Amino acid sequence: MTEIQQPQQIKTDVLIIGAGVGGAMAAIHARDLGADVVITTKGAFGKDGAASWMAGSFFNAAINSPDSPEAHVRDVVVAGKYLNNQKLLHSILSHGAEVVHELLEWGSRLRLNDGKPSVGVRLGNSFNRGASHVRGGFLGTELRRVLPAQVRKRGAKILEDFYVTDLLTNGTRVVGALGIDLRSGEFTVINAKATMISTGGYLGCYEHRTGNSSLVGDGHALGLRAGAEVMDMEFVQFMPLAMVWPPVFKGFVLYSMADNIRGHMYNSKGERFMERYYPDQKEFVLREAQSRAIFREVKEGRGSPHGGVWLTINVMPRNLIDLFIKRTERGRIWDKLREEYGIDVHYDGMEVYPACHYTCGGLWIDEKCRTQLEGLYAVGESASGGKDGADRMSGHGLIYAMTMGIVAGRDAAASVANEALPEVDPKQVKRLAEIASEPLVMNGGVKPYEIKAEIRNILSTSAFYGRTEDGLKAGLSRLDVVRKDALPEVYSSAKGRILNGEWVGALEARNMADVARMVLESALLRRESRGLHERDDYPQTDPAWLKHIIMSQTDGDLKIRAEPLEEFPYLQPSEMDAVLG
Ligand SMILES: Cc1cc2nc3c(=O)[nH]c(=O)nc-3n(C[C@H](O)[C@H](O)[C@H](O)COP(=O)(O)OP(=O)(O)OC[C@H]3O[C@@H](n4cnc5c(N)ncnc54)[C@H](O)[C@@H]3O)c2cc1C
Repeated sequence: MTEIQQPQQIKTDVLIIGAGVGGAMAAIHARDLGADVVITTKGAFGKDGAASWMAGSFFNAAINSPDSPEAHVRDVVVAGKYLNNQKLLHSILSHGAEVVHELLEWGSRLRLNDGKPSVGVRLGNSFNRGASHVRGGFLGTELRRVLPAQVRKRGAKILEDFYVTDLLTNGTRVVGALGIDLRSGEFTVINAKATMISTGGYLGCYEHRTGNSSLVGDGHALGLRAGAEVMDMEFVQFMPLAMVWPPVFKGFVLYSMADNIRGHMYNSKGERFMERYYPDQKEFVLREAQSRAIFREVKEGRGSPHGGVWLTINVMPRNLIDLFIKRTERGRIWDKLREEYGIDVHYDGMEVYPACHYTCGGLWIDEKCRTQLEGLYAVGESASGGKDGADRMSGHGLIYAMTMGIVAGRDAAASVANEALPEVDPKQVKRLAEIASEPLVMNGGVKPYEIKAEIRNILSTSAFYGRTEDGLKAGLSRLDVVRKDALPEVYSSAKGRILNGEWVGALEARNMADVARMVLESALLRRESRGLHERDDYPQTDPAWLKHIIMSQTDGDLKIRAEPLEEFPYLQPSEMDAVLG
């Protein structure tokens, strides 16, 4: 065992693990109530792999009368196939208008009309509530310009290039976290009165994804290991039109044809296959329907050379193609595609396949974003509480994260105001630091990237579309091999401690195995198809499965249970029964 240096100690009122829009909003609102705040990111603040800074188009908020948070909740519950926690949704979505007004006050260039927020109607919404960038540009870029600056202005302590390895506990109370300051390579203890997980989703546990590979569900695993409950992990959203080739464009998302582009899709036989699935609407169907059809074509051997189908947008008038190019331009990608690969989207097809885009599963939380563990909050994509139900309505990732940040940031600051700092157990710190150091100590074994690739392949094969009992069980057996044989052998061939990405990769691989296990187990237990969870062997939605699947862990044993929904304050079960038949 290498000598573990005495970790440096930081004390604070509120520790926020993760600095996307959820963490940033929580930091702002906790600081505004006078709390000391420490916020961490794996990379540089505003420039790391957070999904928030990649967000493309819009978010929904009930701003203008006669719209209301209640109407907003009802729309979201219909999209979520009635599995949503309505009380939680109302608690957070009630802050939607506040988010828009704050962003404008802080200088965000959101679309305005006569000085008032101007919003557009988006699919599935009963009212105009889609807030977008004033020039139709990337919303994430705008949020990145504004939110980190507000956090800095308020004097929160920002720990960049900082990887949190574990939560620290004292009985069932969370007392902070242990992390690695990647610039020095040393362990740091952050002792906090309140700790918040805002580490984003687990799209990085899939092979093909629209976001950054570093989003592997670290916070889900941290919470599970510390004794918190995790739920709804089987609901994973895929974006149908993500490029699979050329390699540098892999995962670049074209949004769906129900959103903003028109096009035709073809398989390897040259058939416009959507005519077969949807003779009337053809390509003009919702994201899920497009994704499923593409998946079937490829699975049945009619895919393109790089495992997708062809999409051509040359059916749009030239001026609209030019507009599409202008709006989606990032680093001159379309020029690059034409100059280096000879693909001109005015004329040529692109190879696309569904990519993991958003994950609904996360930590159990109540209406104040508190987990069951005293002192632990969760917000954004790492928190569930049942907010998404069985499907996330588009344009709701950002608004959930930002409104939860407001709710949790304020509650955490208020609840710690008169509290003493809880004690950290030095023995626990030493033990956790030793475990996290193992990949550096090992001199041979399995490389992190091999384990990550295997886990990504398992989920992409077994927990994608077309789920079956046999497929999910096969995935779990493969994962068992990873957990029992490969993970204990994971090592970093680079032995330096400073900015050692391989070391971090080994720790991420451990978390990915926990996340993958929860996805597979919950997908196996849910014997129905609902929203994003599609079982070939149980193709119908079953009203008896109006239940959340909730998991916890004791001594490495995963406990799993299905819990019926009990409260329906905004959409009654009778209305749902009518729809579910
Ligand atoms: C390409 C793309 C486009 C999207 N477009 C839209 C859109 O138009 N509208 C919309 O509403 N939603 C959109 N979404 C979804 C939305 O962006 C996310 O749901 C939302 O931003 C999640 O915010 P978050 O704060 O929870 O997490 P993130 O923004 O993902 O931030 C997570 C943070 O946690 C940090 N972190 C993770 N693990 C650790 C660790 N162990 N230690 C320290 N730090 C850690 C990361 O570094 C990062 O700072 C899009 C997503 C993608 C990928």
